Formats: sequence, structure tokens, C-alpha cells
Amino acid sequence: MNPHFRYRNRHMFCEGVKIEDIIAQVGSPAYIYSKRTIVEAYKEFDLAFKDIDHLVCYSMKANSNLNVVNILAKLGSGIDCNSGGEIYRALKVGVDPKKIIFAGVGKTPEEIRYALQYDILMFKAESRSELREINAIAGEMGKKAPVGIRVNPDVSVKTHPYIATGLSENKFGIDSSLAREAFALAHSLPNLKIVGLDMHIGSQITEVDPFIEACNKMVLLALELRKAGYNIEHFDLGGGMAIPYKVERPASPKDLAEAIGATLNVSDCKILFEPGRYLVGNAGILVTKVLYTKKHKKKNFLIVDAGMNDLIRPSLYEAYHKIKNVHLKNEESIIADIVGPVCESGDFFARNREINKCKQEDLLAIMSAGAYGMVMSSNYNTRPRIPEVMVDGSKFYVTRARETYEDILQKETIIDEIVENMA
Ligand SMILES: *Cc1c(COP(=O)(O)O)cnc(C)c1O
Repeated sequence: MNPHFRYRNRHMFCEGVKIEDIIAQVGSPAYIYSKRTIVEAYKEFDLAFKDIDHLVCYSMKANSNLNVVNILAKLGSGIDCNSGGEIYRALKVGVDPKKIIFAGVGKTPEEIRYALQYDILMFKAESRSELREINAIAGEMGKKAPVGIRVNPDVSVKTHPYIATGLSENKFGIDSSLAREAFALAHSLPNLKIVGLDMHIGSQITEVDPFIEACNKMVLLALELRKAGYNIEHFDLGGGMAIPYKVERPASPKDLAEAIGATLNVSDCKILFEPGRYLVGNAGILVTKVLYTKKHKKKNFLIVDAGMNDLIRPSLYEAYHKIKNVHLKNEESIIADIVGPVCESGDFFARNREINKCKQEDLLAIMSAGAYGMVMSSNYNTRPRIPEVMVDGSKFYVTRARETYEDILQKETIIDEIVENMA
């Protein structure tokens, strides 16, 4: 597991900082990230493809904390954005627009207009009607929009169905049988400039086989499209590389490079990668405190102060996260359900999990929570969003403060007139 979260004298540390010291200052629950882990994952990924002309574009939706994005941007990463808001974040930390990809199956006209103000790397278009929309808006603004077209390679991936995206039954991309027509359309639209071909087949993909299959199809298509006269500068492979959550030993970037490197080079394209989870997933933990313990007839419950609104992956995808005691005491282990305070039976982090016996106030670390954690959090049950802390060696920084009740109500207004006529 990640060496940057390890025990010293039975107390968990993130890099050089004791987790309990962080919680003493910021309270519980909190997300804690390790900067080293992010830096190492990026460098590992980038280095694996050193023999290929490429750009890693961090997929910001995995963790859009400004400091996380800033670390990756300063390492040279481009940024894959999935909304106008994500582009705003990228620009906020000074990402060069030339390294910003605007992806997403449902870009609004406002978002397209916003992105067109900047000289971004490309729009990843996902339908013919979107191509027409981008063309129309670019025309109004007197711009030429750089577009790549996301083609669905129709490969199946062994992952949770909610995060598989590369089958023709999914909403993403353009069906591969219709790709040629889409490129012809883009070519005919005066305010578009075709720059490349894109794919993204899913997330938490543990094997290289689906990438090989998709790559083989897509590189052939890229060559064919180029022959037909289209400007295919980039081939964007998307993201999806897995991290270990439980005992998986997923394929590494090096494995992937060995499996598809030669094919990628045949394409004679600049290769774009959009890893999200891989770069940040194991860099974060969610620390939570045991509020109560209780026993039903056949079950132990640990009721903790974090809920599904803070980390929804177990509820949404039945995702497995390791859960560890922050202070490993010499206790026997029990089997327990670890559940949150939200009024939903789906509010759990683990079921029938073996864990060291806990008492009230004990801290637990939900591991591998750096990706699709905080970004998917909500204020459900009017619960303030929790802080995010970045550890850098022996220092730590609160990069996002805990919300207050006032923060949550900020945009709401009580309108007296609504209750004036209650008859
Ligand atoms: C979500 C997404 C990614 C990142 O996926 P990971 O599994 O986190 O690597 C990359 N590209 C696109 C288009 C995405 O939607």
C-alpha cells in the first residue's frame, strides 16, 4: 500500500505528520492528502510513456481541489475539464489554456462560449448536434474552435457498470460506425478545426486488454481518417487506469506502455492521456471519528461522524475502501458495519468488516479516498462539507476550510410573501 500513509509506533502518519495532530487542529471528519503521493504518481505515469510524444492531462473531476490541480499543473500536466466550472478552476491556478481539454457529453451553450474565450487545446465533441452547436457559437464569436471527436470503440470493460463508458449502449462518444460521417460533418463546418480523435472506455480498469483492443481499433481509424484528409494531430486515450483498493494488482502505466506503446507510435499522433483516479486516488484518506458503537442481535455497528454525503462511493458503486484504525491499539478484532449518521440505509462505508475493536472517539481512516471523494460530496441532511488538508513532508495546510451552517444557507432566501396567504 501507499508508503506515505504508514504507522509509526502504532500511530498512522501521512508523510511526516501524525494524523491525530491534524485532526486535533481541524476536527473530524476531514480529507487528508499526501502531496508526495500525487507527485510520484504523476512522474511514474509520465515516465512510463517517455518514448512516446505525449501530454498527460489530469482529469480534474477526480479531485478538483485547487491545490491538487496546482501541484499537477506545476509538474507540467495538462487538465481535462468536464464543465465550465472545472475550466474556471484550471484557469484560477494558472493552467495554460493551451493545455486544457474540454470534455463532456452535455456542454451547454454558455459553457461553450466561456471556453471559446480562451485558446484551449480542444473541445472533445460527443455528438453531431454538439459539433453544430460549437460551430455556430464559434461563428458568432469570430473564432475557429479546435475539436477532437470522441468515438466509442465498443469494447467491454470489467468494472462497475456505472463507470464503464466504452460500450455502444453507453451515452458517451459517437458510435464507431458513425465516426467517419461525424468527421466529414466537422470538416464541412467552417468554424471548426479538427485536431484529433478521442476515446475513454471507463474507470478503474485493472487490465490492459481493453486498452489494447480499443487502441488497435482507434489507431486504425486515426490512420484512415488522416488518409481521408482530416487533420488528426492527437489521439486521446482517455483515462481509466485502476488503483488498488482491496487486493487488486492493477496494471501499471508501465504495463500499459509496454502493451500499447508500439501501436501508439504507429499512429504518428501526439498521444494525450487523461488519468484521474490513478494520480490522486491513493493520495487521500477520509478520517472519521467513532461516535457510537452498538450491537443488534447479530451485528455490530460502528457509527461514525462521516456520511455518504462526504464519500458516496460505497453507497453508489458498492465500492470497497480499506478502513484502518488511526491509532492501532492492542485490541481483538470484531466484525462490524461501519455506518454514517445520514438517514439512509445506504449510508455505509463497509459491511461485515473485520476491524480492531473501537471505542467512542477512536479515529478511523477510510483509505484510497483521494479520487471521487470530496468532489462528489453534498450537503445532504444539511451537513457542512468537510475540510481538505494537504500534507507536504512535515507540514500540513488546510486547503479548504470546513463549511459552516451559514455557508450552506448562503444562497437561500426566506420569502415572506410565500407564507402570507396560508388559507
Ligand atoms: C472520468 C474521465 C476521465 C478520468 O477517469 P479515471 O478513471 O479517473 O482515470 C478521463 N477522461 C474522461 C473523458 C472522463 O470522463
